[in-house]
Amino acid sequence: MSLKMFSLEGKTALVTGANTGLGQGICTAYAEAGAKVIGVARRSCQETADKIAAFSGSFTEIIADLSDSSAIPHIVEAAGKACGRVDILVNNAGIIKRCDAADVTMADWDAVININEKMVFFLCQAFAREWIADKRGGKIINIASMLSYQGGVRVPAYTASKSAIMGITRALANEWAAHGINVNAIAPGYMATNNTENLRKDDQRSDEILSRIPAGRWGTPEDITGAAVFLASDASAYVHGFTLAVDGGWLAR
Ligand code: NAD
Repeated sequence: MSLKMFSLEGKTALVTGANTGLGQGICTAYAEAGAKVIGVARRSCQETADKIAAFSGSFTEIIADLSDSSAIPHIVEAAGKACGRVDILVNNAGIIKRCDAADVTMADWDAVININEKMVFFLCQAFAREWIADKRGGKIINIASMLSYQGGVRVPAYTASKSAIMGITRALANEWAAHGINVNAIAPGYMATNNTENLRKDDQRSDEILSRIPAGRWGTPEDITGAAVFLASDASAYVHGFTLAVDGGWLAR
């Protein structure tokens, strides 16, 4: 076994939601592993770009609103122009809306499902079409959640979308594994990012969560980078359709 199988040298990775949080951590880790990284976000990814420039890594940003599926052709074209062939797609961008199930509006439901589920599927489709045509395979890593396994509290649309991510990951792996495309997911546990800011501000919920995490702490963006590099690299060549939890032991409890 050689550590070279974990290298991303010569690869291009496209990561959505690259300006902050887990997406920023994944972009930085991929650049450190040798990949050219393309970050997609609604806002400037300057902070991510600066982190990667600090070690002379390669980073290009594409500004796009992932709530609108008409952004897909622009993303595919801009990525091709910037870096040539994309080899790795990470569907990381996502939103969460906390609200009692009885009060959820259709607009909020659609907003969450559009970004967290519909956009993920159609971005997978856009890149896999190219990979199937050129017969060179590819890697897809979808960001799932503990709520791919559990119901959650006051986040029904988010739970629906993240449960769908686990299903979509399996469904696409079944169709595309034979084309040399690895479709897998990472289910982060409770990580300290913007996504969980309101949760961490709620002392009671925060204490409940923390006391249930065997590792005894919230995760960080760095915590998921090992799994993200593994699933993007040759080391995971025979891993298909699996959702890997990086959760401080939450699901084992
Ligand atoms: P975050 O809020 O810091 O990051 C979300 C990212 O999605 C940002 O980069 C944001 O710009 C991007 N995004 C949102 N809406 C967008 C849009 N319309 N167009 C383009 N980009 C958009 O939170 P995070 O924790 O880093 O979340 C990253 C992913 O991890 C999400 O899919 C989230 O559901 C998932 N996740 C997070 C946790 C956690 O505990 N933090 C746990 C499980 C899963």
